[in-house]
Amino acid sequence: MSGEEQSRLVLTSHPLQRLGAHALAALAEAKGGPEEVDAAGFQSAMRQVIQDAERASVRESKAPDGFWQKASLSFFPNSPMNHPGRRKGKTADGHAKTDADVREAVRSWLTIPDPSRWPAVGCVLCGRDAVGFFGKRDVVLAESESYRNSTPRGHEGVALCWPCLCCFYALPYGCQLTGGSSVALHSWDEGFVRRTVRDQVRRNRQLALTGQESDRHAEVREVVALYALKHYSERITDGVELLVFNNNNRGQLLESHELQQPLAEWLRKTTRLSGRMRGFQALVMAHATKQLAGIVVLARNAFYTPTRVVTTGVNHLADCLMRRSQDHAGTHALADLLKSFVTEVMQMNEKDLTEIRATARKLGGLLNSATGRGPLRELRAHLRNSTQLRSWMTRHAVLWAGAPHEEFGDEPLMSTRLAVLLFDPSPDNPTWLHRDLLFVGVLEELARLGWRAKDDDEEKDDEVAVQMHKDDEKFMKEGEEGDLP
Ligand SMILES: [Zn+2]
Repeated sequence: MSGEEQSRLVLTSHPLQRLGAHALAALAEAKGGPEEVDAAGFQSAMRQVIQDAERASVRESKAPDGFWQKASLSFFPNSPMNHPGRRKGKTADGHAKTDADVREAVRSWLTIPDPSRWPAVGCVLCGRDAVGFFGKRDVVLAESESYRNSTPRGHEGVALCWPCLCCFYALPYGCQLTGGSSVALHSWDEGFVRRTVRDQVRRNRQLALTGQESDRHAEVREVVALYALKHYSERITDGVELLVFNNNNRGQLLESHELQQPLAEWLRKTTRLSGRMRGFQALVMAHATKQLAGIVVLARNAFYTPTRVVTTGVNHLADCLMRRSQDHAGTHALADLLKSFVTEVMQMNEKDLTEIRATARKLGGLLNSATGRGPLRELRAHLRNSTQLRSWMTRHAVLWAGAPHEEFGDEPLMSTRLAVLLFDPSPDNPTWLHRDLLFVGVLEELARLGWRAKDDDEEKDDEVAVQMHKDDEKFMKEGEEGDLP
């Protein structure tokens, strides 16, 4: 294989290799993706990697400018830039090791092996000529987590070509570094990865130069994904994978969590579109707890239990409406946002949604004539119990049928289709969602009619947060001055 071939990046199916390739493309300041980086660009990117590694190799991780050293410990703990003995002992010709010797060891570690030593096998990732076998010293989590990433006795590691290996060397630039476990975002949407890695590389280069940790490095891992989505201006065409990993000798780790494409796209739009800001703010407030910022809980729900995004929003809506000090604009905006979740993420069909809305409006009208919170509280309490909800609905259907309704003629309170949506237990019928939507519709209608509970029926207000957490404010404010791409 020509020397030129060993300077050409390709994208393989390995997520961490792909992230490293994008990091090298960013270091090369390439306009396009990794495959458009020429040999000169590749060399210049690797020069940057080597320079940073050399500089970090003679620092201590606790030194004020030792962050890059500390971070690299979780990528290459057994390499010459991190090995605890790297600055001790003597060199081959017998003199005590100096900083120059440590630097030289790092340079030689990050230099392409001599062709006479290449193993005459193909790279496991791209099939081009491998330049050697590489294990834990060079490649983060070359094997699966259960394998613990160690190379078994008599086994030389993974065969890699030079450009693929360099992707692993450059991987730290594309990750959110903490000094402990690192966080990386991967997607098969090339544009998203390019944009996200590029931003990350810019921040990490700053870090390598100054050693200053930005606030962002304290960010909760799931929130890293929300920031990345907020910064991406194009429609995202694939899901987003959150990778949390550590190659450290004391605790190796690889976790992967996924956001499906519809949810990733909904979050991207919701965090960016000015028309959704008011509803998003209410949703974030809805998720806040005494200990945690709303954005943290929301991001975690999005990754691990997306349905909780809806139920948390619905509960907040109910709390808002039952309080005396109501924020009508916020209530409407949040209700609209929850409906967008239902159509865009849950992909519920419009006809069913209309069916639910119609009954919700009728129920809202009925409950509006009740002055207390009692019937509303009952409805809320029965949402998760089929028997109770069915009997509550039947009771109200009778009330409905007993009075004239100009706008609705002879329509019953609930159609046959609605009964199916609310009560059919088959697995492809998310009754919990339909019930939540019905409840949202009722709350919205009550808000529209200006319903207020009587004063003597007042609930305690102190359970509902009024002040925003500072991390939530920071997230909401980012891009307010028009600096979003
Ligand atoms: Zn390769």
